[in-house]
Amino acid sequence: MSPPPDDARSLSLLSVVIPCFNEESVLRETHRRLTAALEEVSGLDFEAIYVDDGSGDATLDILRELQQVDQRVRVVSLSRNFGQQIASTTGLESAVGDAVVIMDADLQDPPEVIPEMLDRWQQGADIVHGQRTRREGETWFKLWTGRVFNRLFNRLSQVSIPPHTGDFGLMDRAVVDALRIMPEHQRFLRGMIAWVGFRQDAVTYQRPVRFKGETKYPLKKLIGLAADGILSFSVKPLRLCIWSGLLTSALALAGIVYALVVRLSTDAWVSGWAMLFVAVLFVGGVQLLFLGIIGEYLGRIYFEVKRRPLYLVRERLGFAPAGGADGRDCGALT
Ligand code: UDP
Ligand code: MG
Repeated sequence: MSPPPDDARSLSLLSVVIPCFNEESVLRETHRRLTAALEEVSGLDFEAIYVDDGSGDATLDILRELQQVDQRVRVVSLSRNFGQQIASTTGLESAVGDAVVIMDADLQDPPEVIPEMLDRWQQGADIVHGQRTRREGETWFKLWTGRVFNRLFNRLSQVSIPPHTGDFGLMDRAVVDALRIMPEHQRFLRGMIAWVGFRQDAVTYQRPVRFKGETKYPLKKLIGLAADGILSFSVKPLRLCIWSGLLTSALALAGIVYALVVRLSTDAWVSGWAMLFVAVLFVGGVQLLFLGIIGEYLGRIYFEVKRRPLYLVRERLGFAPAGGADGRDCGALT
């Protein structure tokens, strides 16, 4: 690390949040690499918060073991699988550090980058993104869809996510506190972090392949995350419905005028049942599609108004007696 400037922020504790879903094959190595990387930074005090997102394998047993031998380990075990975005939120709510890092459990987010992120934070950045320069072992399809999604998101929403970034990054306490008062259920952390603003910076790194185990994101889940991202940050798809409605109405009006002109100037009616058939099917299809879009928003409103807690905790290990930042067993966020 380069020497911090005179007005550098002082850090009394760094929290590292790691969501884990069926990660038994990587966790020991992840913890070894994380502690090795952070112990390199002189005088750094840190806590590693592992959130077990309802794993069905030995993840929780391994986390218990790690916690027994390392007092800096905290474990939050959720009552079922709530998904990565909620698991990370749980970790953020349990963290008490002045700065908080979110990283994946599979070592695709190399912990060796964290000291550089800390450097940037000390120089005044409130959010430090990990920006990938290369991604090994990903299919072209995932890379391409990722790029398309990023562009689409930035175009449709009022905030913009920096290119080639994911959830890996460091946040100042002020940013974490801002995220804690955002109560939405459809959480898309990348977008929420872009929304809060503050001073943002990035450090670059090469993203390696997953250390062991399988990706937890099959195509269906990726599409769900992308839909959550766009629909919770933009109402432009609804506006698209209005514009398309106006366009089809204009076409229909032109058709009416044409039919009238033909009827009045000749003896014939406009013929063509096939055209009529196609037009009816087309308009019916467009209407159903738009109803579907409206339904997606409606469904999301339905889940938001229920105001259920974001998550339920089954067990906490390694926290101060109060149990985490505030000892809550559910994410009420209000
Ligand atoms: N994860 C989670 N809950 C889930 C799915 C994933 O906590 O329902 C965690 C997973 O354990 C990992 C991180 O989210 O630490 C990223 O998942 P993964 O590496 O499978 O995603 P990919 O890198 O393939 O996009
Ligand atoms: Mg991964």
